[in-house]
Amino acid sequence: MEQHLRTANLKRLQNAAEALRANRFSAEVYEDGPAAAAALLALAGSGRKIGLGGSMTVAALGLPEALASAGNTIVTHKPGMTAEEKRAVWLEAQASDFYLASPQAVTMDGKLIFLDANGNRGAAVIYGPRRIVLLAGVNKLARDQEEGLWRARNVAAIANNIRLGKDNPCVKAGRCLDCAAPGRICNQVTLLWKRPSASDILVMLVNEDLGY
Ligand code: SF4
Repeated sequence: MEQHLRTANLKRLQNAAEALRANRFSAEVYEDGPAAAAALLALAGSGRKIGLGGSMTVAALGLPEALASAGNTIVTHKPGMTAEEKRAVWLEAQASDFYLASPQAVTMDGKLIFLDANGNRGAAVIYGPRRIVLLAGVNKLARDQEEGLWRARNVAAIANNIRLGKDNPCVKAGRCLDCAAPGRICNQVTLLWKRPSASDILVMLVNEDLGY
């Protein structure tokens, strides 16, 4: 990333972190992905049960492998699992020591937006895990709730449809058509306006494009 843009983005991330803190979340800003990953690994330590929400950001930073190498147990669903197996994993992840995920948008007034098909991630980021850590690259910043929801549907969801090999209409149109397709992946929005009172949530903002 060009240096002047990096500097401007860092300032935007710092502003977003301040807004998140005003909404009672913990928030930290990192210069790049490796710095965020190192901090996360130090925080997680070893011997913990770590739940993962499906996150391209977490995957891009190599965290599942690094956390497992550090002696943690990763709890996440895998392709080929039956519906009952997924249910068991999602409930176990919800009761984990740590839960790692990434929102589709972080608004400049400190709100967090998640758009999901199943709801396991939405449930876990509201309540359950002892500590919830949310990673977000600078590409996730949105001006406000409206722009964040637009981003979730028109940027993240389309990329996820393509990644998952779905033939939902947004893949061809390049924009969300609020479809009624049987394979629709946008079934619920979790919108954290403020930190849920009984949950410990740290947002790690990274000055790098990560995930979608
Ligand atoms: S068209 Fe359907 S699947 Fe695609 S982003 Fe919109 S609601 Fe989601």
